[in-house]
Amino acid sequence: MSRIFLAATGRHIGCGLAACLIVFAGTPAALGQLTVSADFPGGSAEVLVIDVDSEIASIEVRPKLRYDRGWPCWWYFRVDGAVAGQRLNVTVRANQEPFREGRTLSPAWALPRRAAISSDNVHWSQTDPGEAQRDRITYPVLAPATTFWLAWGPPFQSAHADELLALIAAKVEPATPFELARTREGRAVNGIRLGNPDAGDVVWIQARQHAWESGSSWVAEGFVRWVACDDPAAVRLRERTQIVFIPIMDVDNVQLGAGGKDATPRDHNRDWCTEPIYPEVAAAQVLIGQLIDAGRLRVFLDLHNPAAGDKLPFYFGPSDYENLPEVERSNYDRFLSHTVRRVGEPIGFLPHFRSSDYIKTKEERDRVSRHWVAGRGGPDLTALTLETSWDTDHGTISGYRKVGQGLARALADFLTDE
Ligand SMILES: [Zn+2]
Repeated sequence: MSRIFLAATGRHIGCGLAACLIVFAGTPAALGQLTVSADFPGGSAEVLVIDVDSEIASIEVRPKLRYDRGWPCWWYFRVDGAVAGQRLNVTVRANQEPFREGRTLSPAWALPRRAAISSDNVHWSQTDPGEAQRDRITYPVLAPATTFWLAWGPPFQSAHADELLALIAAKVEPATPFELARTREGRAVNGIRLGNPDAGDVVWIQARQHAWESGSSWVAEGFVRWVACDDPAAVRLRERTQIVFIPIMDVDNVQLGAGGKDATPRDHNRDWCTEPIYPEVAAAQVLIGQLIDAGRLRVFLDLHNPAAGDKLPFYFGPSDYENLPEVERSNYDRFLSHTVRRVGEPIGFLPHFRSSDYIKTKEERDRVSRHWVAGRGGPDLTALTLETSWDTDHGTISGYRKVGQGLARALADFLTDE
């Protein structure tokens, strides 16, 4: 029986099951020099156990619960005091406390097969696959440095977004950063318009309505980097199109390290109604409505990450696909076939649309952004939700960027092959 130090008690106690299940949220917890902390933007961890007495030191955490702020699946923390090259077993246990009244989360959402790991909080790779049990997974970690970071996936915070928007603004002309809205907590939701401001065709692309889906922001990053690049196809795209780009919609929950999905009373992607509660959703509705009224919105793309079992990226497309007017269905088909070609080559892509019929009522479906936008546009508007797989070997910054780049190339193909 190993000896465990729990910082909140200051006592060594035996590792009986009950002791291991006790939650001590007061990070950092420490024995000797080994500490775990998550008190930074996007951080999320409750320290359950730090054991340095066993032959292989171990850490056990679970995602921090933020009641009413969505699924407790996102985790992101820093380890200090390790020895570079030291072996550690890092266990992440699913947080199955209710995250809102009467709701708990299935463990799979919080337990990627491989964790993201970084020695500088900038460059991220994947750990070796962990050993999974029903409600937890243990990653074999080789400490890359004295201080290192572990996360559910590569984090993408507001600082990443600001840096990206500044980079794009400096690279292409014209490119105009703008503030879409101030969140309920007063933070800026930033975006950028690039390409031809007088173009007849406008593309709206947004990511991260669900805060835990950090991969969707990296896909967005790969998308906009290609749009802003010197490839002649990208230059042509910017000449004939304006692109409106928003890398993080739910800025508040991204900052907090909360999941966002299924927040109380509803999350961002169920807020597209006549009285939205999120200012950024309301602002997007106004701008998108104006573009539709002017007959300019050609493509709407909403970026997400799906369930762990979805191993191929895919689109949620129109629920009434079979009954669409021929011109509209043909646009959806063309967009899909270009995507399959451009994303499918390096990553793979589901060659048919999925419909969001899993949403039980029409009233709720109509509050999904894709449905709200498609319902207002004409047959010339193609509106899609992209779900990029995360629990695969491509769930990395470079894998997500490839998806984003492929998406941008598919868009360019789509707008030029008519
Ligand atoms: Zn989502």
